[in-house]
Amino acid sequence: MKLIGLTGGIGSGKSTVSRIIAEQNVPIIDADLIARQVVEPGRRAYKLIRKHFGDEVLNADGTIDRPKLGAIIFGDSDKRKVLNSCVHPYVRLEMFKQVFWHWMTGKKLVFLDVPLLFESKLDKFVNTTVVVFCSELLQLQRIVKRDNMTEEAATQRIRSQMPLSEKVKLANIVLDNSSDVDQLKIQVKNLVRRLTPPVSSWLLGWIVPPVALAISGFFIKDYATRGARLLIAHYSRP
Ligand code: ADP
Repeated sequence: MKLIGLTGGIGSGKSTVSRIIAEQNVPIIDADLIARQVVEPGRRAYKLIRKHFGDEVLNADGTIDRPKLGAIIFGDSDKRKVLNSCVHPYVRLEMFKQVFWHWMTGKKLVFLDVPLLFESKLDKFVNTTVVVFCSELLQLQRIVKRDNMTEEAATQRIRSQMPLSEKVKLANIVLDNSSDVDQLKIQVKNLVRRLTPPVSSWLLGWIVPPVALAISGFFIKDYATRGARLLIAHYSRP
């Protein structure tokens, strides 16, 4: 199975690419969605956030007040670290579970949609990285339109992230989203075709690890049994 890390800058079109990939019936693991799910009331990350930040970060219905929490950690790196330590381990665990499930069910290609792919060093765990790119001006226009935000606020959002030009340098593949959505669709379809491994290598990648594990398990058990017998024989000598 090939694991592809998908990222971009705010407003560059990552979510749009994600939707197009899903339309191609290619599994996509959405880190943002998982991050929202792991802080639902009752979950372990929720309990940790409540413990560290108190009930003032809760809405009346008990859910996490995300904008309020966002405002608390904005510009306070210590509090941001605390929040990350509450949430990241559970996000990673859930992502790992989903990757494992897709591998178990024989998927050829799986995308990981992670806004902070490089910043969180998750790029080290994927086979290929894809960055969705457009100019900062287009990013700005698209955020203003999508989020009904002022240009100043949108600029602040863009500037608070790793520059998209840096991400482009780190990427294996860059999708240029400077044109319309139809052009983007063509690029994504070509990308999926290009990245899907041929049946032979997919089969090898799928079958070899469990077979190797089973064989090594058999030998380890065999040697362990023989070793135990030798020890018993040695110590039971008169
Ligand atoms: P991101 O997930 O990177 O923040 P989105 O995929 O949400 O960005 O795209 C930002 C906004 O721009 C959305 O409203 C989306 O519909 C729009 N958009 C994305 N790609 C294009 C495009 N090629 N042409 C016009 N609008 C686009």
